[in-house]
Amino acid sequence: MIIPMRCFACGKPIAQLWEEYKRRTEAGEEAGRVLDDLGLKRYCCRAAFLGQADMLPEISKFKKS
Ligand SMILES: [Zn+2]
Repeated sequence: MIIPMRCFACGKPIAQLWEEYKRRTEAGEEAGRVLDDLGLKRYCCRAAFLGQADMLPEISKFKKS
């Protein structure tokens, strides 16, 4: 789905970092290194990024109407 605005566990705003994280990991950079660069030190925030999958293109196929 869409990345949550804030980390569910600690409340740190994380959504503004998602685009850069996605761009850099797709360019072949190591995910752990990108998370360090973005300043995500707590494992709760890192888990929110690592577990994130952009499902919107798939889900929108089944939109009603
Ligand atoms: Zn967190």
